[in-house]
Amino acid sequence: MVFWRSFPTAGPIRATSRRLVDDETARERGVLLGFSKVIGQEMVVKALCRARQQGKINHAYLFSGPPGSGKKTLSLLFAQSLNCTGTAEPPCGKCLACRKIADGHHPDLHLVKPRGASLKIEQLREIKAQLYYFPHEGRKKICLLQDTELLTLPAANSLLKVLEEPPGEMVFILLSARPWSLPGTVLSRCIHFHLKPLAPEKMGLLLQRERPALSPGEKELIIALARGNPGKGLKMAAQGGWEEKYAEAWHLLADIGDGPAEIIWQKAEEISKREDLPALLDFFALLCRDQLFFKLGVQLERTLIKERPAFYNNDRKIFAAGPAFLERIWRAILKLQGELRQNVNKRLALEVLFLQMRGAV
Ligand SMILES: [Zn+2]
Repeated sequence: MVFWRSFPTAGPIRATSRRLVDDETARERGVLLGFSKVIGQEMVVKALCRARQQGKINHAYLFSGPPGSGKKTLSLLFAQSLNCTGTAEPPCGKCLACRKIADGHHPDLHLVKPRGASLKIEQLREIKAQLYYFPHEGRKKICLLQDTELLTLPAANSLLKVLEEPPGEMVFILLSARPWSLPGTVLSRCIHFHLKPLAPEKMGLLLQRERPALSPGEKELIIALARGNPGKGLKMAAQGGWEEKYAEAWHLLADIGDGPAEIIWQKAEEISKREDLPALLDFFALLCRDQLFFKLGVQLERTLIKERPAFYNNDRKIFAAGPAFLERIWRAILKLQGELRQNVNKRLALEVLFLQMRGAV
């Protein structure tokens, strides 16, 4: 059962006329599971439950965190808890309201996603037209605004006007990966929850629950590479093949470090065209970092290291290097990862990195 996967982001609004999520994934989302099954984000869950129990529901909440951090799942669970009609601790996940919200059919849940590159004022107007009616079925009308960093200025001003004089039973839930780009006037009216990365042991628990068949090696790699992002971790777990990629990255790194000189140009050309370049660089960084820690005497409790000691006790030049060199390479890889997000020439950037790996620059 997939719990943390983010919802599809494409497509226009209106949960009233469209399903929020498709048949296959709606019930697998875990929004039917209830708050008690959420792994991590304990403080957020506690605050939301307390607010509901005390009847102190604010008119606007902001959930922030990178894609895959669980913003939408938590906000839908919150929406369920506000409208749950079951007898168990809300959200029960079983009553009609909970199921309708999970399936995107609830008439009092409005989902607004960016149209094109921004959230536009027309979309806010469409929603506002419906806000001043009483809830159809639920206790609260919920307006879930996705990617709110993409609000245009007129749309943000329009939202601000509603937040200044909110209709009685209305709750706005704003989601954003870049909350700092929201106007301060909007931010100041929201109760802000930032979703922190999950600790490695929590990621382990999540993977154990959702993907019990994962090998220990795959699990370790996913925990190391997903950096506490549950969505990314589960996506990686679904793809699989990470141990093989790890081994491939090791061989590539070793060859680039001490193979014939022409390998630099050949591999830079080849790797720059690969779709999995970000994952490969993640592995390069992980290998260098692990090797650095190993050299510094830091104990790494990894099955992969125990099972494959040859990876860490070998005569390949790059892995035999001292901590200072490894740290330099590690930092160079991290720098390159940042540069690649800014549209640099991949082949040239990789050539420079590989020259550094050989100690040539
Ligand atoms: Zn319920």
